[in-house]
Amino acid sequence: MTTPSLIEELVAALGADAVRSGDAIDARYQADWSGTAPVLPLALLRPASTEQVAAALRICHTHRVPVVPQGGMTGLAGGAVPQLDGVALSLERMNAIERVDAAAATITVQAGATLQAVQEAALAQGLLFGVDLGARGTCQIGGNLATNAGGNGVVQYGMAREQVLGLEVVLADGTVLPMLRPMLKNNTGYDLKHWFIGSEGTLGIITRAVLVLRPAPRARVSTLVALPDYASAIRLLRRLQARFPGALAAFELMWDDFFSTSLRWSQMASPLSQAYPFQVLAEVTGHVEADLAEALQNTLGEAMEDGSVLDAVVAQSQAQARALWRIREATAEFPTHLAPINFDISLPLDQIDAFAEECVQALTARWPTQRSFRFGHLGDGNLHLTTDARSLAGGISLAEAEHAVEEIVYGLLAQRGGSVSAEHGIGLHKKPYLHVSRTPAELAAMRAIKQALDPLNLLNPGKVFDLHPFATKAT
Ligand code: FAD
Repeated sequence: MTTPSLIEELVAALGADAVRSGDAIDARYQADWSGTAPVLPLALLRPASTEQVAAALRICHTHRVPVVPQGGMTGLAGGAVPQLDGVALSLERMNAIERVDAAAATITVQAGATLQAVQEAALAQGLLFGVDLGARGTCQIGGNLATNAGGNGVVQYGMAREQVLGLEVVLADGTVLPMLRPMLKNNTGYDLKHWFIGSEGTLGIITRAVLVLRPAPRARVSTLVALPDYASAIRLLRRLQARFPGALAAFELMWDDFFSTSLRWSQMASPLSQAYPFQVLAEVTGHVEADLAEALQNTLGEAMEDGSVLDAVVAQSQAQARALWRIREATAEFPTHLAPINFDISLPLDQIDAFAEECVQALTARWPTQRSFRFGHLGDGNLHLTTDARSLAGGISLAEAEHAVEEIVYGLLAQRGGSVSAEHGIGLHKKPYLHVSRTPAELAAMRAIKQALDPLNLLNPGKVFDLHPFATKAT
């Protein structure tokens, strides 16, 4: 083992304050939000510049030591969990908002800037960054891009990938790829930045990014809508997209199992007059709040006339809108009330409810006491299904329950050709099921890319998929 010499070289290159080991590594660097067991790495590196990231990777490359990139550690797939024989590299000190160019509508940031800091810097110039999700105060832009995050705004602006003009990336051997060109059009060969977006830290470490900004809408109006059936939810989606072109900012579907449980947890009375099978929380954006609210009322009124909407509440104030959103954001309460087994599934829109129903029926057939909760970013074809492991009778352990439920859900998903990860990534958790959504030819192409960029398999090894066991141990 040459760990002492590795640490000495890292300290010499980065400075003592940027290298920690043993007890000095706080618990928050040892596990993410996915529930994966914590791991104490050989060392924690906290570089302050791209040059320091490159120097650290060069040293680790020489020593054949694996490196696990870390952002805000809010990932839900175990992708940032370190490994015993490797170092963790946190981008948290590289958190500068370098430049907001209001004329070009771009923002240049270091990867460790939190999503919220980027949103606020954009907003200060009357602009908006198109990614938003519940972990905004903690997750980092580097993590958002490495996971190609989705979230609330996808129906309007697309996934994180679509908000990126340029990237700076450091490869496993310390080579810096300065792809920060702030141009939309650039057809000069392969668009390399897209290989790193969504690669979960397995191909390179993202150090800086140039991101696209949009005009910040002056007004937002939220509505909670009750629907008789799933087909009506799709009709409402299309109706709102037609009435508010490019301005539908959220379209979140909640099955009653989720909606009623959320109300109970938060001890809230339902804003609707009675219980319904489906609820949609939608948000539209525009210039004048009163005009927007009126147009929304009219559109919902038309839908009520044809019976595709049963009841609706249009928020009359921002406080009321926040109260509606609290119902949807009860997902943050899952770990408090349940032993959640979470799914993040993507399917063609017309199959989502049938699939969700199949899952609930199959789970109930196996465990009559099972409790599952269904909700999703319907505008994006993204279903989140959560089963409470504690509701599965039979005295099985959490790990056994998780495995058994996954076998059922992914077995059904395989028959429909859906995706096992719509937005959270593969990391460690979904690795056993990657084959459900990718053909052998696709997996071979992914391995070929990994081998080309990281032939020693040092960057986040064992995440997403396993490569052949190259020399990854300390020499
Ligand atoms: P981390 O958890 O630190 O890392 C995630 C992955 O990215 C790891 O594989 C890591 O190695 C890699 N990585 C991190 N930084 C870099 C870098 N600079 N370069 C290369 N690789 C890097 N996700 C959604 O998509 N949509 C949601 O709506 C959503 N809601 C959430 C709500 C809550 C309450 C929570 C806790 C999580 C939610 N997530 C959601 C998941 C998570 O927030 C996102 O995946 C987020 O993008 C992760 O960012 P992070 O900085 O925390 O990354």
